[in-house]
Amino acid sequence: MQFAEIGELTCQDLDDANQEARGQELDQAGMTAEQKEGFALTTAVWKPDGGPGAYLKATSLNREDCVKEEFRDGYSDKVSSKTKPACMGGGNYNPHRKNDSETKLLDPLMRPPMAMNGTVTMKIYHVSGGVADELPCGSCRRTICGAEACGIKIELCNNKNEKVKGSDLCSNGKPKDTTDKGWRAKGFGPKPS
Ligand SMILES: [Zn+2]
Repeated sequence: MQFAEIGELTCQDLDDANQEARGQELDQAGMTAEQKEGFALTTAVWKPDGGPGAYLKATSLNREDCVKEEFRDGYSDKVSSKTKPACMGGGNYNPHRKNDSETKLLDPLMRPPMAMNGTVTMKIYHVSGGVADELPCGSCRRTICGAEACGIKIELCNNKNEKVKGSDLCSNGKPKDTTDKGWRAKGFGPKPS
């Protein structure tokens, strides 16, 4: 994983970067129709307390298969551990969801030697059955709220590219609302048409 040092990025910047990553960096020719209709790609900036920002990217797709070779190092690697970081409370990850983009991106930030502080601002692009939205799945919501419990402040960019704070979505390290409806009400549903 390489960190590109950058300054402040807005949700619009992260949205633009996300579109560019999907358009230019994914190996569309190598992806199956099923992969194209169901994946997620998250672009983010991590701003440690007192440090420069770092640009991060992750995709639920296997980067070895679906990201063009020259861009692969810019994407988070698979989560190798079966268990959640200790500061999240430990326990086993759902093995089918631990390599979702949001969890791939956040997991290494919550383990030594990374500093467990700062703010991560994330733009999630999630497509399911060909319908795109910004909605994290239930397992990734627990990772996102777990990051808050680890001392990382989370900001999620919604479908209007407004920042929604983790503190509005999570309580005591757990999602306040476990329903899609609750999250859609905060702007994580499909873009308003
Ligand atoms: Zn997920």
